[in-house]
Formats: sequence, C-alpha cells, structure tokens
Amino acid sequence: MHSSMLDLFLELQKMDKKLYRIKQEQEKLPRLLSKQYTSVQQAKEKLEKKKEEIKRLQLSQREKEGNLGTIQSNIDKKQGQLNTIKTNKEYSALTDEIKNQKELISTTEEEILDIMNQIEASVSEEATFKEEVAALEKEFNKEKKEIEADLESLIKEQKTLDSKRQGKAKDAKEAHPRMYYGYERLIPAMGGQALYHVEDEACTACHMQLMAKDLSQVYAQKIIDCEGCGAMIYSTHSLISN
Ligand SMILES: [Zn+2]
Repeated sequence: MHSSMLDLFLELQKMDKKLYRIKQEQEKLPRLLSKQYTSVQQAKEKLEKKKEEIKRLQLSQREKEGNLGTIQSNIDKKQGQLNTIKTNKEYSALTDEIKNQKELISTTEEEILDIMNQIEASVSEEATFKEEVAALEKEFNKEKKEIEADLESLIKEQKTLDSKRQGKAKDAKEAHPRMYYGYERLIPAMGGQALYHVEDEACTACHMQLMAKDLSQVYAQKIIDCEGCGAMIYSTHSLISN
C-alpha cells in the first residue's frame, strides 16, 4: 500500500514539475517580446525626431531664402535712391547702408549653405534610422511568430498534462486526502516541487541529516515531512537493501 502511495505521489510530482516549468515558460515568453517591442518603439522615436529636425531645418532654409529676397530688393531700392542724393553726407550714409545689406546677404547665404549641409547629413541619418526600424520590426515580427508558436505548443502540452493530472489527483485525494492536501499546499510554495528524495541519509532539498527514527520511516516507503525545510521526503530504497 505504501509503495503504491509513493508511486502515486511521485507520478503527480513528475507532472507538477513539468506543469511548473510550462507555466514559467509561458510567463517568460511575452517578456522577451516586450523587450523587442521597446527597441522598435525607441528606434521609431529616434526616426521621428530626425524627421522633425529635417522639417525644422527646411523651414529655416526657406525663411532665410525669403530674407535674401527682401534684403536684395532693399538694396535695389537704395541703389535707385543714390541718383537722387544731393549731399556727400547723405550719399556716404546710403552707400554704407548698401554695404551693410550686402554683407547681410553674404552671411545669410553662408547660413543657408550651412543649413543645406545639415539637411544633407540629417537626410542620410534618417535613411540609416529607417533601415534600423525596418530591421528591428522584421526581427520583432519573426520573434513574435516564434513565441506565439511556442506558446501555442506549451498550452497544448499543458492541457494534455492537466487532464492526465486530474485523474492522478483524484486517486491521491481519495486514497490519501491528508497527504494530498499537504502536497497541494507545498507545490506552489516550493516552486513546483514538494517531494524530495533522501540521499546519504539527508534531505536533498535542505541537506539536513535525518534522525534514525525518520530514516526508518522513509526506508519503510513512507512519505514524511522534513524537519529542516518542510518538504515531503521519501526513499525508494528499503531498509534491507541499505
Ligand atoms: Zn529538507
């Protein structure tokens, strides 16, 4: 009777270990994907910022080009006024103004050239960022498909195992209710494993040496609680064979 009880709980334990591993995998997989999703979003933000920068630069270029036209027509107007000037003083004041405006044109032209260079560099960076986004999205989609397939097969495996476990759990509950409820409490508390075997007269969960009275119990194929860690401990050896 004891041997069949041990077998029953060992079978249950085997399934629960697997179920626990499946559950952990199920929790881990979407986390992997969320990391990759964040990378895609970050790359997209970088690209958007670059696009805005290009727009700002283009706007600034257009503004400066507009300024050039205004300054030029100013100069034209002042040059026309030169013919109507009567005094030397007025003449030199006006030529000074024209000179200043012409200097303004050349600095503005330099600024425009500078902006055009910045635009060229930014456009090339934008192209690189676009490629980065595309590569990361491709990677993300590939990973997503793989993870979804993995999850699907895990769920299938879990369902099969769950229904198998139901039968075993029913048997264990009916035959050994006290031990069964203890076992059920321990499984989540001890990370999917409640049963530990005894090796070299010690509990393999906490390595505490067993007292003689406990040893004789486990060698009689009984499942007992470890006094060190609370695990359910057992031995598949008998007292005679040891
Ligand atoms: Zn222990």
